[in-house]
Amino acid sequence: MQIAIAELFSTDALRWDAVASRDRQADETFFYAVTTTGVYCRPACASRLPNRQNVRFFQTCTEAEQAGFRPCKRCQPNAMSPREEQVQLIAKICTLIETSEESLSLNELAVTAGLSPYHFQRLFKEIVGVTPKRYAIAQREQRVRDSLQQVTSVTQAIYNAGFSTSSQFYAGASDKLGMAASQYKAGATNIEIRFAIAQSFLGLVLVAATERGVCAIEFGDTPEMLTERLKTRFPNAQVQESDPTFSNWVAQVIGLIETPDRGLNLPLDIQGTAFQQRVWQALQTIPPGTTVSYADVAKQINQPTAVRAVATACAANTLAIAIPCHRVVRSNGDLSGYRWGIERKRALLEREALRRTTY
Ligand SMILES: [Zn+2]
Repeated sequence: MQIAIAELFSTDALRWDAVASRDRQADETFFYAVTTTGVYCRPACASRLPNRQNVRFFQTCTEAEQAGFRPCKRCQPNAMSPREEQVQLIAKICTLIETSEESLSLNELAVTAGLSPYHFQRLFKEIVGVTPKRYAIAQREQRVRDSLQQVTSVTQAIYNAGFSTSSQFYAGASDKLGMAASQYKAGATNIEIRFAIAQSFLGLVLVAATERGVCAIEFGDTPEMLTERLKTRFPNAQVQESDPTFSNWVAQVIGLIETPDRGLNLPLDIQGTAFQQRVWQALQTIPPGTTVSYADVAKQINQPTAVRAVATACAANTLAIAIPCHRVVRSNGDLSGYRWGIERKRALLEREALRRTTY
């Protein structure tokens, strides 16, 4: 269905018709720029209709910006559209299904998504191609079948596709995300990953590194769970327990967890989309002992409407403390979520607040 919509706007003449009629269906499929104002818009933008001869069409925001146009303040073509926010939300639920130890009911998932079970199920099926239940079963079956060699995730598919090229991405959304996605192999590779598990005041912590730098700092309750999670995340990597040279790195990470203000002098191998990386960079500027809101971070990266996407990027962070996503809370001060459990977040923030007096 998405493909059919993209085809509706495959020529400039059809695109112009869509702009002239402010066709909402055309949003996400292309952008138009106005040479006289230097501004580019979504097709359905409510601003005054330009003259046809001053209009140029672009497939993506990036292309429009590379051609020298700036985003319209009114329709905010480079901010996330409601549709993109929906896809982000569903991607987050997919991650939840993929990483949850036990199976979650439709109701639980719907509550997390903030939707009624009916609307949640419908939206999930529309975006992913199957129901949440089918998706969970398929994930589990695949986990068993493929053991640790290849775990396919919708999130990965979305990330690989990249949010910035949303129009192309949505054009094939159901193909990419549906069960055909099980053929969608997570990145290349034979990278080597060393890891070690140590004890911290927040429980067990796994530290893992590629040759480029630390790629995971994750808390967990058992060594098995931590190892499993690492292998699931890097299904094609050669994962091995560390050699003695690695213990110095682990010690540094433990030091960081105990005293965050000391900072970490280790290279990080940060793997994420461009958007996630911008969010994570912003997080690294939050001093220990302070907190900011998701909205603050969204403003800092110049995407004030992308609050939910910022929250999703925080949740996707796998470098605990080094990228201090625990310092982001709701605008009303609620702790909100934490990948490694709200109790750990609370403990970290309390400890940092206590230490702040000594900074
Ligand atoms: Zn506009």
